[in-house]
Amino acid sequence: MQRILQPGDIEALDRVSFPRVRLPQPALLFQERAARMRQLAEGHPIADYLRFAARLVEAQQRLAAQAPAAEALPADAVQRASANGMPLMPASDALPAGWRATLRALVADVQADPAVPAVLRPVLDRLAAHDDDALDALARQALADNLGREDIAAATLVMAALQVVFAARAAAQDERSMPYTEPATVCPVCGSAPVASVLRIGGEAGGHRYLHCGLCATEWHMVRVKCSHCESTQGVRYQGVEEAEAGDAAKVKDQVVLAETCTQCHTYRKIVNQEQDPYAEPLADDLASLTLDLLMGETAFSRASGNPLLAIEKPLAV
Ligand SMILES: [Zn+2]
Ligand SMILES: [Zn+2]
Repeated sequence: MQRILQPGDIEALDRVSFPRVRLPQPALLFQERAARMRQLAEGHPIADYLRFAARLVEAQQRLAAQAPAAEALPADAVQRASANGMPLMPASDALPAGWRATLRALVADVQADPAVPAVLRPVLDRLAAHDDDALDALARQALADNLGREDIAAATLVMAALQVVFAARAAAQDERSMPYTEPATVCPVCGSAPVASVLRIGGEAGGHRYLHCGLCATEWHMVRVKCSHCESTQGVRYQGVEEAEAGDAAKVKDQVVLAETCTQCHTYRKIVNQEQDPYAEPLADDLASLTLDLLMGETAFSRASGNPLLAIEKPLAV
């Protein structure tokens, strides 16, 4: 009897040829990200910010190297997540042990740097003075993207510390037993939104598009024809800075960073193409392509999700 293949079956067949999920290698991740930020900072309009971000990511790298190894989730919990189409360890659950120690070490690392911008000193001092409960409250608000105006400046540091612990936790899991989440546009490990997507080169992942988690840096495959926000295959288009400036659609393909727009959900998210630049890194290239966000701000598309290392005050709801 013939059996009709379900979408999951088709992807299961594909799994032999390329990984569906790529878990982070934290030390390497932060090293490559920091190097990319320094490279992009050369002659960049926001060079100072990119260098500060690189400095923060270098501190993340040092902390990632010292972090105690996290543990894999027990098999029964993995099965439960899979059966329910849920992420393995949603970030909205309890905060990982050790996150506060990581935040305090990160704050101390940045405080010790004489080159840190003076405007940041009071923010660092306040964070260092917070007790455990205040820090946990701040982390939950940052994860829910619900920070008050007075905490916006602290958000980048809080998110940077959370990235270190969540990446360590993701790295300890088993790539082969990742759930198919519903929706498929959230991270299968922590349930967070992707910061951008990346077209990878080299190795088994080469030629495939992955969504890159803004929190734990897990990457999961999604075909390019699908919108990375609503999964529609109807209205995906690309827009680049050069096309917008010169009105030349042919130039779109040659650009490292494009905005992938969707006429179904009216959002955009950037896609970073390693075929155009092998050093492209999703979070760093997203941060450095702020010009593209400014151009997109004049269109009908709104940004699908933010960059954890760039805290922006949300416009007040009217
Ligand atoms: Zn994640
Ligand atoms: Zn969409």
